[in-house]
Parts: sequence; C-alpha cells; structure tokens
Amino acid sequence: MKSRSGRTATAATASGRDAQPFMTTLNEFSRCVAQYDPHALPVSAAQAIVRQWATPVTAVERVPLRDALDRVLAADIVSPIDVPSHDNSAMDGYAFNRTALATIESTVDLTIVGKALAGHPFAGQVGTTQCVRVMTGACMPADCDTVVPQELVERSADSTSIRFAANALRAGANRRLTGEDLVRGHAALRAGRIMRASDLGLLASLGIGEVSVRRRLRVAFFSTGDELRSLGEPLEPGSVYDSNRYTLFAMLRRLNMDTLDLGVVRDEPAALEAALRSAAASADVVLTSGGVSVGEADFTKQLLQTFGDVAFWSLAMRPGRPLAFGRVWSGNHPGLGLPALFFGLPGNPVAVMVTFYQIVREALLLMSGATPQALPLLRAASRQIIRKRAGRTEYQRGVAGQDAHGQWHVTPTGSQSSGVLSSMSEANCFIVLGHDEADIAEGEHVDIMLFDGLI
Ligand code: AMP
Ligand code: MG
Repeated sequence: MKSRSGRTATAATASGRDAQPFMTTLNEFSRCVAQYDPHALPVSAAQAIVRQWATPVTAVERVPLRDALDRVLAADIVSPIDVPSHDNSAMDGYAFNRTALATIESTVDLTIVGKALAGHPFAGQVGTTQCVRVMTGACMPADCDTVVPQELVERSADSTSIRFAANALRAGANRRLTGEDLVRGHAALRAGRIMRASDLGLLASLGIGEVSVRRRLRVAFFSTGDELRSLGEPLEPGSVYDSNRYTLFAMLRRLNMDTLDLGVVRDEPAALEAALRSAAASADVVLTSGGVSVGEADFTKQLLQTFGDVAFWSLAMRPGRPLAFGRVWSGNHPGLGLPALFFGLPGNPVAVMVTFYQIVREALLLMSGATPQALPLLRAASRQIIRKRAGRTEYQRGVAGQDAHGQWHVTPTGSQSSGVLSSMSEANCFIVLGHDEADIAEGEHVDIMLFDGLI
C-alpha cells in the first residue's frame, strides 16, 4: 500500500529495506555489529548501525533551478553542450597566430585587421602578419591561437599596428578552449549532490532551468518533560523553557529538512505513545528529546521495546550517553502502519546538539539521497590540560584559532556540562577526543571539528 510519496505501509518494503531480507529487526541486525554493547556502544559502531538503516527516499520532483538550492540531485546531469561553446579570449588584447611565428625571436609587428567583442565575433580571415583586437570572452578569430594582453604591446601612433616580444608568449596563451569547463556528453554533476551556489550557476551555464531532485525528508520532532514550558507560558519554579525544539528546528532547517514540530509531550506513557505513533504516521524520521535515560519518568525506551524496534539506547559518548535509536510504526504493533526511523535524543541541550551532528546528521543526509562527505577534522594544539576518560568518545566545546605562523590552537570553553548551552554559542568547534584517548597535556594536538559549514 502506497500512502505517502516514497513510503509504503508494510515493513518489508518500507523504503526498500529488502536489502537485508535475512534480518528481521533492527535489534537483531545491531547485535551482529562488531563491538555491539547496548549499554555503551562505541560511536563508530553506532554510526555504522544507523548508516545501514538510513535508506534514501525514492520520490523525485522537478523544480526550477533556483528552488534546487540545498536540494539533493536525483540523477546525473549530462552536459548537453560544451562550455565554453567556442574558443575565446581570456584577456583584453590582440589575437594572432603564434604558431606561424614560431621562428621569430625578437619583436614582431602585426597589423590590426579588425575587432572582436564578447558576443560580436570577427568573421574575416587573419593573415600571419595580422592580428585582431579582442576583448575577454570574444570568440577567437579563425586561424588565431594566442592572445597577447594589451599591457604587453606598443601601438603604432596611427593605431593600425602593434609591436611586442612574441617569444614572451607560448602558443595558446590566454586562449580558453572549447569544452575546457564542461564537455558535452559528460556528467557535469552527479546524483546525490547537495546543490550549492556554484552548482546552480553551473547548470545555468548549460542552459538547464529545471532539475530532478529527491523529495525533502520529513522530520517530526517533539520534546518530552513535565518541567518544560513553551515560549509565552509563565515559568513557575522548577520549570524550564523548552529550548531543544528551537535548536532542533534550526539544525534541521540548515540541512533543508521538511520539519514538523509536535510540541511538548508530558512524561506519561500513553501521551508519549500517541505522539510517537502520530509522528510515525506523518514523517520519515522522528526525533525526540529527553526521557531516554534511566530515571523514573523516562518512558521512551520502554515504549520503544513494546511497539517499536530498538537498536541501541546508550552510547560510549559524552555528552550524549543516553541515545535511543530504532524504528517506530504508526500502528499499535511493530510492523503495523507506517514506519519511521527514530532517534530518542538526550534531554540536555548540549547533548541534543552533539548527538544530532555526530549521529543523526549523516542518517538524514543519506535518507535524503545525498552522498555525505566526511566532516573534515583539523589538528590543533590544546592550550590547556583536558581531562578525558578512555573508553568513550568526547565532544568538548572549544574555541579554536591560528597563531602568527598559521598553527591551529584550541581552548575548551569553561563549563563542559551538557546542560550549559551557552558553551555551544561561545565555541567555534568541537574538540573530538577519540574512544581510546585519555587525558590531553597542554600543547598536545587534538582533533577539532569546526562549526563553520557544520552548524
Ligand atoms: P532528561 O533526559 O529528560 O532526563 O532531561 C535531562 C535534562 O535536560 C533535564 O535537566 C531537563 O530539564 C533538560 N531538558 C530536557 N528537555 C529539555 C528541553 N526540551 N529544553 C531544555 N531543557 C531540557
Ligand atoms: Mg525528562
């Protein structure tokens, strides 16, 4: 049964997961992953599990070029033309036949026989002792192979000829070749590409005004917690404003997701179950925050075990230890109704951001049909001792910069508590401390992941 574009109602065919017919549940699949420990799964193992289940949406839509910004290209774009479509001048100067002058050693005098501007070619013939005045982008006149820049020539008093040192120029200098940018019949952009500014321009240069992109991924999210208040509500003692929904909204929008904000849900199993089911009914992915720990009001994990499929719920990671990943269905039983991938993020605001970028982001991009690039890491000297326990991956917040010699350095922001959201605003990078790493000495090098381009 096809009920939403690209999604089907049965578990087996939902988003084409028949690729693992021998695995009945995500839970079983996860148990086969090396280092599987549901109580403290290493980050790399968690990423590997999530990657396996992030199946791309299949539906495609045609959009005008401008609307393709940040969308995922659904098919390769094969160039219908050569770009540039003709040899042309890269400089303002004079076009001539350098090859014919090969034996000339010193200065050369050429008679100007015409002019070519961008969009206004010179149609005549050019002899070996002649040249044509050309502007940047003008078609190379027939028989000409080289352009001498105007700064290098001396014009005769009557402006009918030029003189210059021909041996200062090799044949072909300052000439742009047909197809130098894009060759007709070759792939100009590959499917899976997230369209950026240069790609829009590139497609325009091919004369393409409309493209096929994958449909946007629909991501529903809600916060859980009896203490949470929405903006505009009074803040009684013991309550806090719900900030996670705003952070999540912004992070999802940056990835160009179609977002569905389902508000705040109380710490009550029935309310949570209803919210999870309705989220699964209307989205590809469901994100929640809070309630995945082991406290008395943390029901998400239990619920997932009864009407979902849970792969893991605790990572060897800080912040972000409690993190549930699995699948939920809109029906009242695993496999019934519409499926959605589920991430139960921790409640602490910093942990929400860290787990989103380190675990959720790649899955969302893969499900959108994109080919995600590994996030680049830089090596930076720590300006401070950093306490770190081996056996978990840590993502501390840091302020990185370069010294006068261009060397990178980083200083952790003050508090590394996962509740201190201001540390994320203050920081400009994550300090990534690997699973096996222990304390870092002052001056020791660490990996950093810059927020620029990420957040
Ligand atoms: P929990 O994981 O539900 O135990 O929550 C951990 C901490 O994060 C608690 O201090 C919560 O009050 C806080 N928290 C949970 N959800 C949110 C939210 N949406 N906005 C701000 N703080 C939150
Ligand atoms: Mg809570």
